[in-house]
Amino acid sequence: MEIKVTKSDRPVCYDDSDLGFGKVFSNHMFVMDYERGKGWHDPQILPYSDLSTSPAMMALHYGQSIFEGMKAYRTESGDLQLFRPMENIKRFNISAERMCIPTIDEDLFLSALEKLISIDADFVPRAANTSLYIRPFAFATTPELGVRPADNYKFVIITSPSGAYYKSGLAPVKIYVEPEYIRASVGGVGHVKTAGNYAASLKAQQLAAGKGYSQVLWLDSKNHENIEEVGAMNVFFVIDGEIVTPIPQGSILEGITRKSCIEILRDKGYKVTEKVLSLAEVLEAHAAGKLNEAFGTGTAAVISPIGELYFKDKKYEINNNQIGAVSQFIYSTLTDIQFGRMPDEYGWVYKLREEL
Ligand SMILES: *Cc1c(COP(=O)(O)O)cnc(C)c1O
Repeated sequence: MEIKVTKSDRPVCYDDSDLGFGKVFSNHMFVMDYERGKGWHDPQILPYSDLSTSPAMMALHYGQSIFEGMKAYRTESGDLQLFRPMENIKRFNISAERMCIPTIDEDLFLSALEKLISIDADFVPRAANTSLYIRPFAFATTPELGVRPADNYKFVIITSPSGAYYKSGLAPVKIYVEPEYIRASVGGVGHVKTAGNYAASLKAQQLAAGKGYSQVLWLDSKNHENIEEVGAMNVFFVIDGEIVTPIPQGSILEGITRKSCIEILRDKGYKVTEKVLSLAEVLEAHAAGKLNEAFGTGTAAVISPIGELYFKDKKYEINNNQIGAVSQFIYSTLTDIQFGRMPDEYGWVYKLREEL
């Protein structure tokens, strides 16, 4: 399918040094519609603008809505590149499948990303560790009040020049271990990026923030015993030199950063174990002085070192609230690959072509 382009006449104007995250948007967006019987059709790049919707649009009422999050990076020589884009595309289609949204052709998806980013190349920021955050999403547009898979959908990609997540370098965060609220349960939709998961997490997040904690650590929905994730990040612990992380069993989102960390760490000779990991095991390791480090992983922050866990009126400081060696190593390695400061021995970098 040919992607039709309508150019914006808005000038490129934003401040590299004060971007924040997900607040400024590029001049263009990709839009494609779906109608049952006709399939996905009319892929277009349009000037970034509001979308108009019916108040009966099904996504608003029943939450049939999915998304992805990825980044484009500018290298020192000025080239633009993506990190493992096919992983995001495949995961988007897994989310689509679970939410009864029609899947998107992988090649078309990749072409849409390439074309959109090449048109808005000036929006990929230049300051150190800044990048273009990319948000593909799809939602049900059929104007009808009935709980069933919709007949019409929109697939949209918007992009946002975003600042370095940590203004003054990697900094440890304080995490609230949530004893009551849960994020997702096995058999549900916790393993896919669907809007409702994030709406459901807000209450616990808000309560934790009110107590001075930046994120919630989620426990399993059945017994509130086993560790799942941290906010919208996967979580790793270094216990007595061994790196452990919860094994995904349907309620955890399988992060691409998580997967990349495991691959790099194993490749560099670290012992990495995926298993059912209880909070008790982590707290016992802490008591025995064997909890060396903890960190979260996700596209937005890449690595988020954890300096403190709070659970049922007790505070557990980790690594003297300092960044640990493993956290620092994996953060540097991943960002060096993403920004092209290090040769990509894994074949993860996807270079964008200049002219399309
Ligand atoms: C997106 C997301 C992650 C991290 O995934 P990445 O592919 O590493 O960005 C982890 N947990 C949740 C709940 C997420 O939505």
